[in-house]
Amino acid sequence: MAGKIIHPEEHEGVIVDWSNHPLYRNVLDILEGAAREINLDRNCHSRLMKPRRALYVSIPVRMDDGSIQAFDGFRVHHNTTLGPGKGGIRFHPEVNLAEVAALAMLMTLKNSLVRLPLGGAKGGVACDPDKMSRREKQSLTRRYTSEIHMFIGPDKDIPAPDVGTDAQNMAWLMDTYSSHIGYAVPGVVTGKPIEIGGSLGRVDATGRGVVYCVIEAAKRLGMELGENTSVAIQGFGNVGFYSAKIIASIGCKVVAVSDVSGGVYNPKGLDIEELRQWIQTNKVLKGFPNAEFVTNEQLLELPCDVLIPAALSNQITEENADRIKCKILAEGANGPTTRVASKILHEKGVFIIPDILANAGGVIVSYFEWVQGLQNFFWSEKDVNNKLWEIITSAFNRVYECSTQRNIGMRRAAFVVSLDHLSRAMLLRGFYP
Ligand code: NAD
Repeated sequence: MAGKIIHPEEHEGVIVDWSNHPLYRNVLDILEGAAREINLDRNCHSRLMKPRRALYVSIPVRMDDGSIQAFDGFRVHHNTTLGPGKGGIRFHPEVNLAEVAALAMLMTLKNSLVRLPLGGAKGGVACDPDKMSRREKQSLTRRYTSEIHMFIGPDKDIPAPDVGTDAQNMAWLMDTYSSHIGYAVPGVVTGKPIEIGGSLGRVDATGRGVVYCVIEAAKRLGMELGENTSVAIQGFGNVGFYSAKIIASIGCKVVAVSDVSGGVYNPKGLDIEELRQWIQTNKVLKGFPNAEFVTNEQLLELPCDVLIPAALSNQITEENADRIKCKILAEGANGPTTRVASKILHEKGVFIIPDILANAGGVIVSYFEWVQGLQNFFWSEKDVNNKLWEIITSAFNRVYECSTQRNIGMRRAAFVVSLDHLSRAMLLRGFYP
């Protein structure tokens, strides 16, 4: 039919059953609610329900025992209306195309919410980096980069670290991409080490952004943050560790943290530096002295003022939402709370700082890193942190205002603010059907 874009639900012969994946379904549901709220143009809505393009790659890696193992990898461009694709690369055993596509969709909405000139992308490889040697991880990163190199680039799509990847993976990615192109291209990736064009303040930016949002939320609740404020954090990787370190530095008491091995709890407070040293020696938190062992499930239900899920998605569901006791839920992770759980928490009066706002600090400083790389002019850490504060707190204000004016929860408000900006841009550019 002329002028009509086929709605995904009307499309037969679907290649991937996106809606079967819990995170993808969850993001679609939130999108739907926000779209209804602002009477979103139907063509914009349809376009956003699926990624623009998705690449699958099979990645052969010679393992240390001499065998060759093939890993499944993906890179998805969800939407590039506002600029090049931007989003992390995840190395985790449960990675699949639908998960990567859902995370790419969240990136589109996050970048639009904080008004960056960037689209949404994400990548991932189904592997267990904890069980691989450094050499195997380097081979995997380099061959993955080689397979997706035509899909990425400073003007096309700029990857960054996510679960299971760090600055070292980004350095290997940059080196492999540059070898293909023939000269150094630092702008192809963010989250790089400082020595090869990384930005000061990038490593702790996501955790810092989480804490800046908690500060803003506490102001709105008339809550004073200090030694009587207890904080529990699920996940002790990049986001969890820096959230813990920075929130402790403003005087709050971190009472519990966890990683894949489980959690540690001490109502009197944990010493973040001691925890870091323990992890350095023992790899996992389990066994940390002077604290009670708790499971990841128990950690979420501990009495605390601020809860920061900073590990994986779908951790707070309709099963446990009723038992969550925090006043502020700051979503460091992407998609940690299901839509139904969100509703339960909202009704209980929990102040939710949704993922696309709470964890946007990482992509904001990634944007700064990309800009600094393109200009070959580098900023001080103070400048980076000040600009991060400006951008994330003004996004917080827009979301809070929308939430109070429309009398809707913070999550729906964040999607409404983001979709409003993005759909204007999409309609101005048109659909080129
Ligand atoms: P990371 O790999 O550095 O750390 C992940 C942490 O989660 C580790 O402590 C790990 O032990 C723990 N974990 C893994 N599986 C778990 C399980 N089944 N149960 C409990 N804990 C488990 O990853 P990260 O970069 O800190 O990312 C964490 C979350 O934050 C992800 O949802 C990611 O998408 C999101 N995020 C990260 C960034 C960033 O800049 N790194 C930016 C925005 C959002």
